[in-house]
Amino acid sequence: MAKKRIYEIAKELGISSKELIAKLDEMGMPGLKAANSVDEEEYTLILQLHRDEGEAPDQELPADAADGSSEQAVSVDATKAEAPKKRDRRTDGVPRPPIVSVLGHIDHGKTTLLDAIRKSHLAGREAGGITQGIAAYQAELHGQRITFIDTPGHKAFSGMRARGAHVTDIAILVVAADDSIMAQTVEAIDHIHAAGVPMIVAINKIDRPNANVDKVMNDLAQRGMTAETWGGDTITVEISALQGENIEELLEMILLVSEMEDLRADPNGPVEAVIIESHLSSGRGAVASAVVRDGTLREKDWVVAGSTCGRIKALLDEGGKRISEVAPGMAAEILGFSDVPEVGSAIAVAKSQSEARKVAQQCERAEKQQVVERPRSFDDFFAQAEETAKLRLVLKASSTGALEAARREIEAIDVGDVDLEILHAGVGVISESDILLASPVAEECLIVGFGVKADAKAAKVADRAKVAVFTYDVIYDLVEEVEGALKRRLAPEFTESQIGIVEVRDLFKVPSGVVAGCYVADGRVTRRAHVRVVRNDEEIHVGEIASLRRFEDDVREVQAGRECGLRIRDFDGVEVGDRLEVFEMEEVVR
Ligand code: GDP
Repeated sequence: MAKKRIYEIAKELGISSKELIAKLDEMGMPGLKAANSVDEEEYTLILQLHRDEGEAPDQELPADAADGSSEQAVSVDATKAEAPKKRDRRTDGVPRPPIVSVLGHIDHGKTTLLDAIRKSHLAGREAGGITQGIAAYQAELHGQRITFIDTPGHKAFSGMRARGAHVTDIAILVVAADDSIMAQTVEAIDHIHAAGVPMIVAINKIDRPNANVDKVMNDLAQRGMTAETWGGDTITVEISALQGENIEELLEMILLVSEMEDLRADPNGPVEAVIIESHLSSGRGAVASAVVRDGTLREKDWVVAGSTCGRIKALLDEGGKRISEVAPGMAAEILGFSDVPEVGSAIAVAKSQSEARKVAQQCERAEKQQVVERPRSFDDFFAQAEETAKLRLVLKASSTGALEAARREIEAIDVGDVDLEILHAGVGVISESDILLASPVAEECLIVGFGVKADAKAAKVADRAKVAVFTYDVIYDLVEEVEGALKRRLAPEFTESQIGIVEVRDLFKVPSGVVAGCYVADGRVTRRAHVRVVRNDEEIHVGEIASLRRFEDDVREVQAGRECGLRIRDFDGVEVGDRLEVFEMEEVVR
């Protein structure tokens, strides 16, 4: 028997891969993924476990599983199996088609792959579905649909992310088997990781005589992406986009990952849609393509995308056919925007024209008011930075040697509890793609160039996206500044600094608690200070001062030799004769 994948077995048993995996986990076979293959022995065991669990008590073990003599697929009557138990499934919404982007190095076959899928599996082809330029199309396999974004490459992928839009559910990384992992493959991997999107590796051009799949597998493994056929987690499919080989298996994998992701949407819920292409047409005005992730977009809806609004005059599908609505997971061309909306902007549906206008105007005003500039210094960066104990870097250098040296030095910096993540490290000038990668996390990301600068386009995009770019020619300067940045990312550390001693001489009951009548024996006491209540040399309580008064007045500070009334927050156990050590918390300079 050939090796079988978990999802194939699940299909045979008439349950979902997720359910089978959960079941196997319970039964002592943990950590399996749907794309993992099992050998004959494990396969037999799984069938046995399934049978023993009593889900299909009258089911015979398939012959080929028992004796391993036949390659034939095992067919189990799904109707005999007990209805699958629902495990941790979202119950709201309905499953929707996954939205898929294709990424990879130039010439590795992204466009050819998209064409191959379009040619062989285009959905609705019987309706004469010749694709129009709506920047997305739908493929169909076993009656299930997959939406492909038709603009391949990580610039498009991250360009949309840079505007805060979440478009892609699953990324296909195309790697040519005769070329293996190249510079842009690495970039694409980093962009996909940064987006937190599941990935399927399509090892392409396997028809080429010099194709070397093992080398690709090896290079993937070296990047921590061991293929599942090699015992890892990375799903790989060997294809020839040119000859249309294994395209169906790739689509099968997409549906599988989609099932695992449990992509759902509520067609009647709020609309979540993103502009994926837009242009001005001389005859039709502003034309935009959008993909709907949730809710339903309808003709005549009032819509807003960034500072642009309008009423949907017409919706067109990929065949150029007029449609009245766009369901979740679908894409369409929209006519009716007053202006060309920006790619990557989210579409919101408004109740009325006035609401749509108001939202668009607010957005325009906000855009204009955003006078914050790209940080030009570390002080600027930290002034605008989010308060997080995290710093991310995109590191670019002039050569592999320089890159490795810089990376080594940076990774050796030890400043304690700061989470440092190198989003991407590569050789070459700082490019637009680097800026787009940093842009969604601009508040906590620095782009650092060692011996390289940003090209003109990148500098412009950095200005717009307010991404901090710093370049160095001396490694010592680079390390020193990054170390400084990391230190500033550390959570502030405080130390106690004693400022006075107070004696409790009297007690007064008030509605809010107990006020201690005190005498400041030494130093001073301030309203913002903390006190340590000490009785017979024993610490009774430590807390903040809730109120500080002299006679009837609230005061900020009382000096030594004077009397005051003092209440401790959430503590009424103070007694006459107690000593209060007064201290302030001071930030430690690291
Ligand atoms: P992209 O830059 O990643 O979009 O790459 P293309 O799709 O434009 O492909 C680059 C070149 O590789 C073209 O000449 C394709 O015909 C060729 N190509 C793409 N896929 C395959 C394949 O599976 N086998 C072979 N032999 N050539 C391929």
